[in-house]
Amino acid sequence: MNASERRKELLKWLDREGSLSTREIAEHFKITKMTVHRDLSLLENRRALRRIHGGALANPSSGGAAKPAAPESAETGQGKCLVCFRPATQHLIYSLALDNGEQKQACCAHCGVSAHILHRDKVVMAMTADYLTGRQHSAQNSNFLMGSVAIPCCHPSMLTFESREMAERFQAGFGGTLGNLNDAIAFLEHDLSIDHEKCPNCFQG
Ligand SMILES: [Zn+2]
Ligand SMILES: [Zn+2]
Repeated sequence: MNASERRKELLKWLDREGSLSTREIAEHFKITKMTVHRDLSLLENRRALRRIHGGALANPSSGGAAKPAAPESAETGQGKCLVCFRPATQHLIYSLALDNGEQKQACCAHCGVSAHILHRDKVVMAMTADYLTGRQHSAQNSNFLMGSVAIPCCHPSMLTFESREMAERFQAGFGGTLGNLNDAIAFLEHDLSIDHEKCPNCFQG
């Protein structure tokens, strides 16, 4: 199979699955992850798919087929992360309300912020859990600690704190950078653009 056949095959497969991890793709085609990344970025440039942390999502507007976006169709059961499909842990849950009235959950603030990147203006409201108390509060007003050494879920770590003071205390012990939701989005976008292979969880299938 040559490269262009492989990419065609990959798109068909992705369309059926809704989402695929880099590892799955590499194993399926017996190619290196480097090659997978090349294929994915090429296809993303053609707007044939969307790259996410550790893999790709089918592009709803590709192929002309009128079907819902991949995360909506692939994610059915409650309590599964809409980005990485891992079961969401209650004390880290990040929930998003979409403009079509749907309520989605992410396993942690890392995936929650990724969902903002994926769904952009479709997200009308987001709630995140305080890392210390578990209390749900508005992501818009939360304090995001990015890239600390405390990694309860996805990598790079993204923790949210209702109180700025607690966030600063936590940062003093565990490092990382503090910011608001927009800073967190910028942080992940930057991280995604430099390295798709950082997240160990994304690669555990
Ligand atoms: Zn997740
Ligand atoms: Zn997570």
